[in-house]
Amino acid sequence: MKFETPALPYNNKALEPIISEKTIEFHWGKHVNAYLTNLNKLIPETPFENASLDEIVKKSEGGIFNNGAQVWNHLFYFNSFSEKRGTTPSKELTDAIREAFGDLDSFKKEFESQAVGVFGSGWMWLVKDKQGKLSLIKASNAENPIRKDFMPIFVADVWEHAYYLDYQNRRPDHLSALWNIVDWGIISERYRNYKTVELKKS
Ligand code: MN
Repeated sequence: MKFETPALPYNNKALEPIISEKTIEFHWGKHVNAYLTNLNKLIPETPFENASLDEIVKKSEGGIFNNGAQVWNHLFYFNSFSEKRGTTPSKELTDAIREAFGDLDSFKKEFESQAVGVFGSGWMWLVKDKQGKLSLIKASNAENPIRKDFMPIFVADVWEHAYYLDYQNRRPDHLSALWNIVDWGIISERYRNYKTVELKKS
């Protein structure tokens, strides 16, 4: 049994010009594919052979964790966007953002500022806790907040491979542009009814 290669929920040009077709081809087509191939090579004959992707991210260490979490994180990341433009958060999510950050613009500014401050490779997470309270988590490398029982709502990939082809070293420009392609319908649904990332095996 191997994890199947998942499909992107949109075509390779759907996020242009914010994320180019070329970036999708390399980032999704090469980087994510390599993490998945490595994961499938590493898990046979280990305690994680029959584990779900979620269990792997929560319980494994070393190479299995690094590759498994990178698969989880990227599936979550790429499924945060769509070809739609101009979506808005639900009333419920807007209220939670207001409670935690003041308003939507203040949230975006704070998210971008902390994401710019992630040193080296990593991820910038928006999470909710069991009470529904939102907070931001800066993460290095493959780190994933489900290991600490937070429920991710949104994430930005701040590894250079996520933006270098389109923005070179301009991480701040990439981050401020991302809001144009974020599908707030998806993010609002995650806030309302969190579901983890699932990946089929066959
Ligand atoms: Mn990436």
